Amino acid sequence: MVLIPFREGEGWLPGTLRPYSPIEIDPAAAVLHYGQSVFEGFKAFRQVTGDIASFRPDANARRFQNSAKRLAMPEMPVDMFLQAANLLIQQDRDWVPSIRGTSLYLRPLLIATECSLGVRPSREYLFVLIASPAGDYFQGGVKPVSVWVCDKYVRAAPGGTGEAKFGGNYAASLIAQAEAAQRGCAQVVWLDAVHRNQVEEMGGMNIFFVLNSNGQTTLLTPKLSGSLLPGITRESLLLIGPKLGYAVEERTITLAEWISSAKSGHMTEAFACGTAAVITPIGSMHGQHGETLIGDGQGGPVAQTLRDYLLAIQYGEAPDPLGWMHRVC
Ligand code: PLP
Repeated sequence: MVLIPFREGEGWLPGTLRPYSPIEIDPAAAVLHYGQSVFEGFKAFRQVTGDIASFRPDANARRFQNSAKRLAMPEMPVDMFLQAANLLIQQDRDWVPSIRGTSLYLRPLLIATECSLGVRPSREYLFVLIASPAGDYFQGGVKPVSVWVCDKYVRAAPGGTGEAKFGGNYAASLIAQAEAAQRGCAQVVWLDAVHRNQVEEMGGMNIFFVLNSNGQTTLLTPKLSGSLLPGITRESLLLIGPKLGYAVEERTITLAEWISSAKSGHMTEAFACGTAAVITPIGSMHGQHGETLIGDGQGGPVAQTLRDYLLAIQYGEAPDPLGWMHRVC
């Protein structure tokens, strides 16, 4: 793991690369009380050539800065973030699996470590970077999930912390995820906090809809409203969609529109996207209104095409037109 401390007045202090182990933390450390904690998640892939390359780590570095800023924490320079990632990936190169669908998952974390019970930004922080081999999310093939539209809880509100990859967002989401499970659904879908009718995200992933009209296929995703996490997979799909002949659209989509366009057949697919699972098809949506099947409930070709294209870039099987892969070793 890589550890880099920060101290107000001194800035980022020299970092260390050392074997994975527990870290000692004072019981009065600010993070344990007031939750100043942000994190990231990205992957390094074994290329078909045998080299190792990470996918868009610079985008994660910038989002890490934005998350830190929102939580009144110091912003780690992008170069320092990338240097830490490269160091750990090189050290762990033998742990990067080579079977398609697998990767080395990297988890950067920034926590407030000052020993103080004052409610104010900590003056000391610790950056921690750990890694783990990650298996194929969908062993035995990609399977569509059922989702529960949550009307009881909200994930994030305008002006809140939804745009940041902040630990507390995830803590607050667990009860809704448990409710979805109780309803027999695999994932929760979040609605906006104000109108309670605009679709925002699915669990820890962004959401897309596939609309078909007059032979044109459109990838529609909720626009970044301030309460959505700006997913790097989301942005990547918006950029590769047009290369595959799809139109892309970012706008508000209400639950009523989702239901009516799925019922009319205008919407043929829905899927979620994120680093962990890349693309997860949504087979059915459940809520107070009842159940709505998306397409035939089995997922569809557009999600599959996007998934195959992105994976081919990530494993170095296809050209990388947007320069997303960072060769490490
Ligand atoms: N939305 C939330 C709440 C997330 O936690 C994540 C995962 O990081 C995403 C969306 C997808 O983001 P990305 O594609 O950068 O993994």
